[in-house]
Amino acid sequence: MKYIGAHVSAAGGVDQAVIRAHEIKATAFALFTKNQRQWQAAPLSADLIARFKAACEQYGYTSAQILPHDSYLINLGHPDDEALNKSRVAFIDEMARCQQLGLSLLNFHPGSHLKQIEEADCLARIAESINIALAATEGVTAVIENTAGQGSNLGFRFEHLAAIIDGVEDKSRVGVCIDTCHAFAGGYDLRTEADCDATFAEFDRVVGFQYLRGMHLNDAKSAFNSRVDRHHSLGEGNIGKTAFSYIMKDARFDGIPMILETVNPDIWADEIAWLKSEA
Ligand SMILES: [Zn+2]
Ligand SMILES: [Zn+2]
Repeated sequence: MKYIGAHVSAAGGVDQAVIRAHEIKATAFALFTKNQRQWQAAPLSADLIARFKAACEQYGYTSAQILPHDSYLINLGHPDDEALNKSRVAFIDEMARCQQLGLSLLNFHPGSHLKQIEEADCLARIAESINIALAATEGVTAVIENTAGQGSNLGFRFEHLAAIIDGVEDKSRVGVCIDTCHAFAGGYDLRTEADCDATFAEFDRVVGFQYLRGMHLNDAKSAFNSRVDRHHSLGEGNIGKTAFSYIMKDARFDGIPMILETVNPDIWADEIAWLKSEA
């Protein structure tokens, strides 16, 4: 079973995201549980939590189909201890919000060394941040997203993801989400079926499909290996449609939320319908 959807707006409350996902015939969705550009957020009210859960029940979404994304401000590998602590506190809050909503996954970008510490030190800080968050919460898996490697962001090599997982004590609550645009911009080709075979074999060798908890399905405006993060609509960018039909036909991607973060929300319903038709 393939779960296919998009990162929908939660404007007006997290329960509204569920309705928006249903409207585009999504069988999965992503959302922010708070404003992604602010540190602080009001706690989720009991009423809002109840409305979110009721909407999920009504429209048939289980936690396996929902991939919340954390705030862009959080840097779990921050070189400065005070700033690192601020990020860790915010990340625990994000995990706790997911737990309150009955969600089982939280997708996040690993972190950045800001050219102040070594890669290995930054990766170790990220792993320790995950350990702290897992100890403070229950039932939510930390899902590390691969990045395009823009600036000093780590996570653009599969080896980075593997190193972080290696430092996490509870392997049952850590996983990864592969963003196709980020992989392509990070140097993993996906343009032909042979490229997809090679890239996903490399992923399986270095990280392992047992850790795959979600996918972000994005074409790329950015060039191959450019380390630039620019998404595009499916089939309109430099990856092309082959990779997405490949993923739809491959059982290794069953049972996980696969989320569009493509640039034109007006055609998400069409993109979802096309992906379903390829499965
Ligand atoms: Zn992301
Ligand atoms: Zn993404």
